[in-house]
Amino acid sequence: MKSMLVSRSDLDFLLYDWLRIDELTKRDRFAEHSRETFDAVLELCEQLATRYFANHNKKSDANEPTFDGHRVTVIPEVKEALDAVAQADIIAMTMDQRLGGAQLPATVAQAAFAWFAAANVSTAGYLMLTMANANLLATFGTDEQIETFVQPMLAGRFSGTMALSETQAGSSLADITTRAEPQSDGSYRLFGSKMWISGAEHEMTDNIVNLVLAKIPGGPPGTKGISLFIVPKYLLDADGSIGERNDVALAGLNHKMGQRGITNTVLNVGDGTFTPGGTPGAVGYLVGEQHRGIAYMFTMMNEARLGVGMGAVALGYTGYLKSVEYARQRPQGRPVTSKDPAAPQIPIIEHADVKRMLLAQKAYVEGGMALLLYCAKLVDLQHSAESDQEREQATMLLDILTPVAKSWPSQWCLEANDLAIQVHGGYGYSREYDVEQHYRDNRLNPIHEGTHGIQSLDLLGRKVIHRKGANLIALGHAVSTTVATAQRLGGEPAQMAAQLESAWSRLAGVTAGMFSAGDVDAALANSVVYLEAFGHIVLAWIWLEQMVAVDGRDGDFFDGKRQAARYFFRYELPRTTPQLDLLESLDRTALEMRDSWF
Ligand SMILES: Cc1cc2nc3c(=O)[nH]c(=O)nc-3n(C[C@H](O)[C@H](O)[C@H](O)COP(=O)(O)OP(=O)(O)OC[C@H]3O[C@@H](n4cnc5c(N)ncnc54)[C@H](O)[C@@H]3O)c2cc1C
Repeated sequence: MKSMLVSRSDLDFLLYDWLRIDELTKRDRFAEHSRETFDAVLELCEQLATRYFANHNKKSDANEPTFDGHRVTVIPEVKEALDAVAQADIIAMTMDQRLGGAQLPATVAQAAFAWFAAANVSTAGYLMLTMANANLLATFGTDEQIETFVQPMLAGRFSGTMALSETQAGSSLADITTRAEPQSDGSYRLFGSKMWISGAEHEMTDNIVNLVLAKIPGGPPGTKGISLFIVPKYLLDADGSIGERNDVALAGLNHKMGQRGITNTVLNVGDGTFTPGGTPGAVGYLVGEQHRGIAYMFTMMNEARLGVGMGAVALGYTGYLKSVEYARQRPQGRPVTSKDPAAPQIPIIEHADVKRMLLAQKAYVEGGMALLLYCAKLVDLQHSAESDQEREQATMLLDILTPVAKSWPSQWCLEANDLAIQVHGGYGYSREYDVEQHYRDNRLNPIHEGTHGIQSLDLLGRKVIHRKGANLIALGHAVSTTVATAQRLGGEPAQMAAQLESAWSRLAGVTAGMFSAGDVDAALANSVVYLEAFGHIVLAWIWLEQMVAVDGRDGDFFDGKRQAARYFFRYELPRTTPQLDLLESLDRTALEMRDSWF
C-alpha cells in the first residue's frame, strides 16, 4: 500500500537520481555501505514509523503528558516507539564506528528521520534531541563523558535534551542568568531556571541527560561568558548505575498548541527540591572549556535547525499526500462548463483551483525535501572531504543555506498544511481528519530553534556578509553551474535557467546595494523580507536542479516533477520581484513606526 507519510519514489529520485548518494560509498568514511544498506535503512525506518509512531499520533495529541506533582505520565506507546527505534540501532546510525555507530551518511539519516517526523513529530522529537545531544558530546565531551552519557543514549537507556532558554532569555541567549559555581572536585553546582525545555521530564528512560547553558561567575559578559554543562536527572554511581536524584526539578509542564506528545517543561535548577550529597544545587559537569558553551551548542543547534526544517517538510509532506487522496475521493460540483445539473458530480481533484492548491503543496514539500537532503549531503561532504578545498566549499554552502533550510520549510510547508485543510473543506477543520493536527504541530517550527526573525538576521547580518560575502559567492557559483547545465539542455530548462539567472543577479546586486549606504539599521530592518526572497530564489534553483535531473525521462512521476517546477517558476519565483524592490529602496516604514502609533 502506498504510504501516506512520505513518497518513497520521491526519496529514491532525490537520493539516487539527483544527489547520487551511492557515490558517497567510494569515500573511506562510508566505504562499508552500499545502496543496499541505504535502502534497507530507509525500508526499516518506514516500517518502524508506520507501526510504532503513526499508531499513536492522534492519541498523544488528545492525551498530552500530565504531571501530578510527583510524576509525569506519558502514554505507553511513546516508550514502545522509542524502544523499538533503540533496538533497531537507529539512534547511532550516523555515529562513528569507534563509538558503535553505523557511520551512515547524514543524507540517509535525514531521509530516514522524515518517516518518523511525518508519522509522529512529537515522539520523533525525543529521538531527534537524543541524537543531537549524543553527537555534541561525542564531538566535544571527554572519553569518560562519552562512556558515561553517550553510550547509554545510543543504546536508548538515557535520553537527551538541550536546555538553553529561560523565561527572560529566548532569542537573546546572552541574557541567561543560570549560574554555575565551580566545586573543589572539578564539578559545578548550577542555580537558575530553564523554560520551554522539551523532553526534560518523563519516566521513559533510566536517566535524562540535560545539556544546560549557564554562566560561571566572573566570566566575560554576553554570549562569550556562557559555558555548557551536563546536568543529568540522576547522578551516577562509580559503576555507572543510577544514583541520587540531581537537583533539577520540574516546576510544571507547558500546554501547547501542537506537538503535544512531547513534554515541554519549566525546570528549577538547583532550588533545593533535591539535595544531592546533602546540599542544594544541581550537579553539572563542564563540557569542553569554560566560556565556549555557545560555540559547542551551535553544533547541536545547526543540526537541530536542519532537523526542524526536515520536521516541517515531513509534516507538510504527509498533509499533501493525505489531501491528494482526499481530493480523489471527494465528489463535489461539476465542471465549470457543465450545464447539466443531473450529470454526476466530479471528484474535487478535477477542479482547477483544487489542483492549484495540490500543486502548490507539491512544490513546497518536494522542494523542501530536496533542499534538506542537499544540505544533509553537504554535512556528509564536510565529514568525508577528500581535500581542504572540498570541505571549505561544503562548509560555506551549508553556512549560508542553514537559515533557509530551517525557515523556508517552516513557512511554506506550514502553508502546505494550511492548503491541505482548505482542500478538505469543512472536514479539514475537524479533528476527525489528520490535517488540522499537522498544521498545529507544524506551527511551532517558525518559533523554536531561532525564530523566523532571528534566522533572517543570521542570514543577512552574518552569513551573507561573512568574509566579504564568500558564502554568497560560493552559492552563486553553485547556481551558475546549474544554470549552465540547464542552458545546455535548451527548451524549458533553458527558459527557467534564464529566469533564475536574472533573479540571482538581481538578488546579488540588491544585497550589495543594501550595505553600500552604510545604514545598517535600514539594511537589517527588512531582513525577513530578504530571507523570504532569498529562500524562494534558492528553491527555484533546487527546482531547476530537479528539472535537469528529470530531463528526457517519461512517465507520470517525471511529468509531475516538471509541472511542479513550472508551478514554482510561474507562481512563486515572481513573488520575489516586489520583495527585492522594497529591499532595494531600503524602505523604512517598519523601522520608523513608533510604539505610540499602534
Ligand atoms: C514548544 C516549544 C519547544 C521548545 N523547546 C526548547 C528546548 O527544547 N530547549 C530550549 O532551550 N528552548 C526551547 N524552546 C524555546 C524556543 O527556542 C524559544 O521560544 C525561541 O527561541 C523564542 O524565544 P522566546 O519565546 O523567548 O521569544 P522572544 O525571544 O521573546 O521573541 C518574541 C518575538 O520577538 C522577536 N525578536 C526577539 N528578539 C529579536 C531581535 N533581536 N530582533 C528582531 N526580532 C526579535 C522574535 O522573532 C519573536 O517574533 C521551545 C519553545 C517552544 C514553544
